[in-house]
Amino acid sequence: MLFFAVGLEQASEMEVIFLGTGTSQGIPMIACGCAVCTSADPRNHRGRTSIHVVMDGLHIQVDAAPEFRLQCLHNRVEKLDLFILTHGHADHIAGMDDLRRFCDMREGVALPVYSTDEGMSRVLAMYPYAIMDRSVVRGYPAFQLLEMPTVLSLPQGTIRSTLLPHGGINVLGLIFEEKSTGKKFVYYTDCKRVPAEAKALAVGADVVVLDGLRPEPHPTHMSIDEAIAVAHEIKSPQTYLTHLTHAIDHAMWSEKLPSGIALA
Ligand SMILES: [Zn+2]
Ligand SMILES: [Zn+2]
Ligand SMILES: [Zn+2]
Repeated sequence: MLFFAVGLEQASEMEVIFLGTGTSQGIPMIACGCAVCTSADPRNHRGRTSIHVVMDGLHIQVDAAPEFRLQCLHNRVEKLDLFILTHGHADHIAGMDDLRRFCDMREGVALPVYSTDEGMSRVLAMYPYAIMDRSVVRGYPAFQLLEMPTVLSLPQGTIRSTLLPHGGINVLGLIFEEKSTGKKFVYYTDCKRVPAEAKALAVGADVVVLDGLRPEPHPTHMSIDEAIAVAHEIKSPQTYLTHLTHAIDHAMWSEKLPSGIALA
């Protein structure tokens, strides 16, 4: 639900909307009476992790959480030109059927859906009815499945991709560079490490988003301390942490984090 604009001086500034910043169970969790899950602070209410990027008028959706429809309604996301699935875990793929509304607006042309081999095979398994080049009937999703290239060149800018280890699979890390403003935005969610190549690609970014699951270590996600260490290596002026659990109270951790690093 949070919104920020990267670059304030141009009319065509890149926009990034955090549709959700919560871990796979969502916060509040079902049947949890902890201080964060019962908190009145709306910043402690977190939908599953995804972002919507507007790059010089091009609307790019990264992942579709189980509450994707509600996230679109709350954040007035009303246009979508291409979709990128970072990986096939349920908290990132489960809302894809609701892309049908955006498919209807495309005059019969299927929505480009970019992902890894793992992500594409998950889409094929869950949404076999949606794989087609042209939509046949209005009201149904129509996806053109494409392997995410290392560099996707578009009139509005480039989207680079790199692979981030996340347990047994690799997740797409994404680097957005807007042509008109030169602004650079990096999105590395769901990862246990940020490899040297991904760090190098992130250098010079105006804003970086990193997986910062919780204070304690986790086998497939970065802890807050691990994310801070990566942020200090990348040296972006502003880093946001996402995919947060109920172990993180927004107000308390906002005071504890080093300058230039904040919770999304
Ligand atoms: Zn996730
Ligand atoms: Zn809780
Ligand atoms: Zn995941």
